[in-house]
Amino acid sequence: MALVNMNDMLLRARQENYAVGAFDLINLEFAEAIIAGAVQRRAPVILSTAAVHFDYVNMKSLAPSLVRLAEEAPIPVALHLDHGTDLEMAIQAIRLGYTGIQIDTAHLPFEDNIRQTREVVKVAHAVGVSVEGELGYVSGHEGDHSSRVVGEEPIYTDAEQAAAFATATGVDCLAVSVGTVHGLMKGEPRIDFERLRSIRDRISVPLVIHGGSGLTANTYGQLVSNGMCKINFYAELSKAAVDSIRNRLSLHSGTNSITQALADMRSAVQQSVERKIEIWGCGGKA
Ligand SMILES: [Zn+2]
Repeated sequence: MALVNMNDMLLRARQENYAVGAFDLINLEFAEAIIAGAVQRRAPVILSTAAVHFDYVNMKSLAPSLVRLAEEAPIPVALHLDHGTDLEMAIQAIRLGYTGIQIDTAHLPFEDNIRQTREVVKVAHAVGVSVEGELGYVSGHEGDHSSRVVGEEPIYTDAEQAAAFATATGVDCLAVSVGTVHGLMKGEPRIDFERLRSIRDRISVPLVIHGGSGLTANTYGQLVSNGMCKINFYAELSKAAVDSIRNRLSLHSGTNSITQALADMRSAVQQSVERKIEIWGCGGKA
């Protein structure tokens, strides 16, 4: 079907009340497994690469393959930059063929966050690329160091500020902090659904949740029914991949076959993707 604009995907999700998975990938095996899972479930999907992984992932060399995979997939695929840090990174991603850009300047004072986000929106919209802004702070660690930092608390998104931010910046979707954390934590985070509803009632753009791993089906259901249209997901994929390799080594301790280990990993990632697609309601929507 092809590489598509991320926002078209999310607007339909909002209308029809489901969430699209934005699965962070770290190599081609992950990308292929994510697409295979989405194809199997006939779901639209977002291939996401996180700036925090760029020490490990060479975006310039990987992106052409991701674009190709997306173009050849029989389902709609968006290619998204997760936690882009500045305008320069956003422009690089756009040149590489990305169809969605997150600009995360949520750590800056409110007015500076608006200014920097608006700059990215102006450039991205000129070439038909969607922009995700962020307001509030989802605690925990992005990427592999995904245990929660002790004593670190999230900064919840304020509903009035979210409305002002969305209007002032022109973002296509907004990442909000309502209690999830990046990475895997013990137990389930407590989500402030009242706050989420109040944000949803004030703004018209689709909402995004970061730290989408480790939640129960019931929590996902409530997030989706209260306006979440994009769920960022990585920590569980990473764990599934590592568990599959650990499992192979324990069953076949003498193995030297990297292709077998990678095949196991691919299958584990695909299964995890498929399970979430069904829970988030986007199976059959492609
Ligand atoms: Zn995030």
